[in-house]
Amino acid sequence: VGIEDLSYDQIADVNKVFVSRIRDLKNDSRFKYILIFRNYGQRAGAVIPHPHSQLIATPITPKRVMEELRGARRYYSFRSRCVFCDMMSEESEAKERVVYENSQFLSFCPYASRFPFEIWIVPKIHASDFENIEESAMFELADVLKATLQKLKKALNEPDYNFILHTAPVRHSRNGSWATIDKEFHWHIEIMPRITYVAGFEWGTGFYKNPTPPEEAAKYLRKMDVL
Ligand SMILES: [Zn+2]
Ligand SMILES: [Zn+2]
Repeated sequence: VGIEDLSYDQIADVNKVFVSRIRDLKNDSRFKYILIFRNYGQRAGAVIPHPHSQLIATPITPKRVMEELRGARRYYSFRSRCVFCDMMSEESEAKERVVYENSQFLSFCPYASRFPFEIWIVPKIHASDFENIEESAMFELADVLKATLQKLKKALNEPDYNFILHTAPVRHSRNGSWATIDKEFHWHIEIMPRITYVAGFEWGTGFYKNPTPPEEAAKYLRKMDVL
């Protein structure tokens, strides 16, 4: 059983728990970042069999998040626009990498996917902090999660995957040069199916070889009838 098998209300309840935990933990000045993730299946590192998510608050902003923040800032500095907003408008126009969309969220296989069938879910309206999500977007978020994960499950026969929620670092750590992160960064979810192995080349370089073009992955996922 995965989260996609729960009802819309149950999925929304899980997301509401994430929101309330983040809202509480961000008051603790020891923490700079709060990461929510899910490891589904053994290859993704899950050690207990029932569906579960994890939250880890860290005293520093993690390296991967910092890379995204810096990349988003570089883009903003020459375009004066959010890179995620631009990526999304290109994707929803081109359609070829779109997996699913509803009025508030776009689910797509990113142009430079690192893994076969990698999927990103991005809110259509710019927002840097996940925990500020409107109550009215909760149903749409449950819908996009359920549709996307059911498609993935059907397409790849229930693959193991990692699910990561990237939101901006907590507000009290955004002093000085990071004070403008609100307009530069855009929260999002990354889903990485574990169907190929991360091995010597990847560890040695930080580069990823992906045998499945995202256009093919998205086309296949779109065809999966779910719900
Ligand atoms: Zn944006
Ligand atoms: Zn990210």
